[in-house]
Amino acid sequence: MQTTTTIEETRKLVKDWKRQGLTIGLVPTMGYLHEGHASLIARARKENDRVVVSVFVNPTQFGPNEDLEAYPRDFAHDCRLCEEQGADLVFHPEPEEMYQDACTYVNIRTLSDTLCGKSRPVHFSGVCTVVSKLFHIAAPDRAYFGEKDAQQLAIIKKMVKDLDFDLEVVGCPIIREADGLAKSSRNTYLNAQERQAALCLSRALQKGKALAKPGLDTKTLKNVIREEIEKEPLARIDYVETVDALTMQPVEAIDRPVLTAIAVYIGKTRLIDNFSYDPEVQA
Ligand code: AMP
Repeated sequence: MQTTTTIEETRKLVKDWKRQGLTIGLVPTMGYLHEGHASLIARARKENDRVVVSVFVNPTQFGPNEDLEAYPRDFAHDCRLCEEQGADLVFHPEPEEMYQDACTYVNIRTLSDTLCGKSRPVHFSGVCTVVSKLFHIAAPDRAYFGEKDAQQLAIIKKMVKDLDFDLEVVGCPIIREADGLAKSSRNTYLNAQERQAALCLSRALQKGKALAKPGLDTKTLKNVIREEIEKEPLARIDYVETVDALTMQPVEAIDRPVLTAIAVYIGKTRLIDNFSYDPEVQA
């Protein structure tokens, strides 16, 4: 496995692979890798000749009062995990390498107005910008994203369609701890008491999922989820919302494929989780 820190050396390797007719899978990450990331890398390994993992804590997707500085980092551990999963290249640039004096950004409308985009106004512009750059640098045939960040996945799919990127976006299922908590690099912020409290997210979504059926009004669904979370004293709800799975706009009833997504503060840590429901398939 190789590691690179510059765009130039990464491009050189990628061009060489392309010349040989090899396919490339890209897994964009912010590092501090866990089994959720590993599942994306493993899937990319199965479906491509070469696998590139980017490890980059992208400053442009953090708001001014968010956790950019505190975001956990452990590059040696990340390299071991990538190697175990059979990655060929880890691209690990510094922010200066990626942005220099950049003043061009990729913005996506409507899909980024709801859910996390509402509470984190610059977030998806930062995500779309860095992911576009990574697509240009690594020239992947397929790019792998987790359903854990379901709004991000929907946004990247739409951006790829709108901007004619010649690649396939592959969504991968949420990987959870044995007790249901969705794996996240941010779980490391939780102390023992908060870790226990964080179970209210998956518990509430389980309750919601059990209730979901075609035609159900989403107010009822959201209330059940809210009530379950509100039982937990350490939890503070940012949002509980059910949206159209493609447009990310709120819906009043389950009359199409929907995404129910939540963001909840446990102490100072903001955690997200979700489930999808397609009335045609899951009824
Ligand atoms: P991050 O490093 O948090 O930016 O995540 C990088 C990629 O890994 C994103 O596509 C995430 O959706 C995905 N990911 C993170 N956590 C999980 C998880 N628990 N299950 C599946 N995918 C995940």
